[in-house]
Amino acid sequence: MNCTILAVGTELLMGQTVNTNAAFLSQELNELGINVLFHITVGDNPHRLDKMLNNALENSDMIITTGGLGPTQDDLTKEIIAKALGRKLHLHRPTYGKLESFFKRLNREMTNNNIKQAYLPDNSIILENNAGTAPGFIIEEREKVIISLPGPPKEMKSIYFDSVKPYLQRKSEYTIKSKLLKFVGIGESSLENVLVDLISNQTNPTLATYAKDGELTLRITAKGNSHEEIDSLINPIVKEVESRLKEYIYSYRGEVLEEVVVNMLLSKNLTLSLAESCTGGLLSSKLTSVSGVSKVFDRGIVTYSNTSKSEELGVRESTLRTYGAVSKETAMEMALGIKRASGTDISLSITGVAGPTGGSPEKPVGLIYIGIATDSSSYVKKLNLTGDRNKIRNYTTIAALNLIRKTIQEEY
Ligand code: AMP
Ligand code: MG
Repeated sequence: MNCTILAVGTELLMGQTVNTNAAFLSQELNELGINVLFHITVGDNPHRLDKMLNNALENSDMIITTGGLGPTQDDLTKEIIAKALGRKLHLHRPTYGKLESFFKRLNREMTNNNIKQAYLPDNSIILENNAGTAPGFIIEEREKVIISLPGPPKEMKSIYFDSVKPYLQRKSEYTIKSKLLKFVGIGESSLENVLVDLISNQTNPTLATYAKDGELTLRITAKGNSHEEIDSLINPIVKEVESRLKEYIYSYRGEVLEEVVVNMLLSKNLTLSLAESCTGGLLSSKLTSVSGVSKVFDRGIVTYSNTSKSEELGVRESTLRTYGAVSKETAMEMALGIKRASGTDISLSITGVAGPTGGSPEKPVGLIYIGIATDSSSYVKKLNLTGDRNKIRNYTTIAALNLIRKTIQEEY
């Protein structure tokens, strides 16, 4: 089955709203093995919407529209779909009742344009909206399927997970399953190079790599008649990928790196402290986004100035004077300093030049030192990163998390 995603809304064409609905739906449909052939965006204009709808009906088995289901004058998607398929709209009593009690609760009058939301095409499957007022609907017409969803992403996703996904899964003749392997310490092109034969020769499962914000994912997707059959297709590929790249794999379940690190700390009962300079608390922030981290994360302090590095961490003034704040020596004293102050099992420090200013020939932008100290060892890792300030800061936290992960693997 293939699909066109038709996004409706003038704000999308004006660039005021990014079409995140299309990206979300494409990812989800891909997971289900449905090929998305076209993304079409059209403004709130009945004539052009009608034209694009007919065009999409001609060129794909399924159309999913988002937007234009609301109460206002410019919301026309429903009316145009009904007209294109020669159907009428009728009042859907349960939706009307829901709207009525919604407005009663708010103590507001229900106006005629709100009632418009309760008019839905004849012979359609109504999709209840648990996150808002406008329901979605599905029309099955000859061999085609039209699914219409509201524009606000929260409502669109809510209906997708509650009704659309189960509907598509029931309709599909296969079961589709994906496994997400996550990698760190290797670039996307190197990953692809090592796996090129698998990526280009495999049809079931299929393999694809994605890189986003320094996180690298390999998706392995297979289809079959049962979960057992699918597992028997995916598992040998996982083994093969493992045999080539095991040291870089940090998750087999698509987790983010901070989640994996926190879970490792929890399972080994280890505590952690941080002293951050150029990342300004970004690593602490990532770690504390993981629920349950309070059992293992003792403290993270931002020591940005030289004075704070001396006062809070006991970095010697002579070290700062001789080697500078961005140096192996300072990183080491920072890590040892926070270890001394906190008494945690693992302590990590970060110092570097995030740019775009502040670089020099000896210490260019992207030069980063990460220090790590445990009860039995301490060392400093040097990185030479490229990119803008955000990218350098983000990659630094990923490298630091990976260092913690490796230290736990090797020492505990
Ligand atoms: P509508 O269903 O047309 O009333 O859409 C209401 C709101 O949903 C708009 O103001 C947008 O902010 C948002 N929205 C609509 N379409 C999209 C889309 N394709 N991607 C992301 N947000 C959207
Ligand atoms: Mg709209």
